[in-house]
Amino acid sequence: MLDQRKTGVLIAKKRKEKNITQTILASYLGITDRAVSKWERGLALPDASIMLKLCNILGISITELLTGEETMEENYKEKAEKLILEIRKREEDNNRYLLKLETVIGVLATVSALTIIFIAAFLIPGTALMFFLILIALAILSVGIYFALKIERDAGYYECRHCHHRYVPDFNCVLMAPHIGRDRMMKCPKCGKKSLMKKVLLPEDSEDRN
Ligand SMILES: [Zn+2]
Repeated sequence: MLDQRKTGVLIAKKRKEKNITQTILASYLGITDRAVSKWERGLALPDASIMLKLCNILGISITELLTGEETMEENYKEKAEKLILEIRKREEDNNRYLLKLETVIGVLATVSALTIIFIAAFLIPGTALMFFLILIALAILSVGIYFALKIERDAGYYECRHCHHRYVPDFNCVLMAPHIGRDRMMKCPKCGKKSLMKKVLLPEDSEDRN
C-alpha cells in the first residue's frame, strides 16, 4: 500500500496545482526545501508529525497522501449514492404515512356516517329530521371518500401487472376504477393492457413494496 514514489508524485502534483514552490511549502512546514525535494522524488516520506499539516496545505487526506491516490471522485460517488438512498427513503416514509392517513380518514368518515344514520333511523324514524340527517351522513361519507382517494392517488404509484410500468393516474381514473383494497383495475398507459394495478411506494422497482 505504501508507495513512496506515488506519494511523491501526488505531493508534487498538488503543490503545483496550488501554485507554490518547494521552498514555500518547506517554509510553511518549517523544514528544508531539500526535504520536500526528497519526498517528491520518492526518496523519503514526510515525517508523521507534519503529515496532517501537509495534507491540509495540499487539500488531500492522509489516506490519499500515503497511497498516493486521489480518492475524491469515489467519495463523491459514495456520497451521492447515500443521498439518493436517503431521498428514496424519505419519499417512501412520506407515502407510507399518507396511506395511513387515507385509512384513518376513510374509517372516520364511514363510522361517523353510519353512526348518524343508525341514530336517525332508530330514534326518529320516518321524520323529516331523519332524512336530513341521512343526507348529512352521505355528504360526510362522500367528502371523506373524496379526500381519502385524493391522498391515495398522490401517495406513491400504481404498477402495471403486465409491464411493471409505474405511474400516477388521473384522479378520475382512480375514482372510477373498480378496486380490491388499494389495487385498482385500470388501463396501463404504457402497454395498454388492463390489470389490477398494485399500489407501490416508489417510482422504481425496489425490495420495499407496499
Ligand atoms: Zn403495462
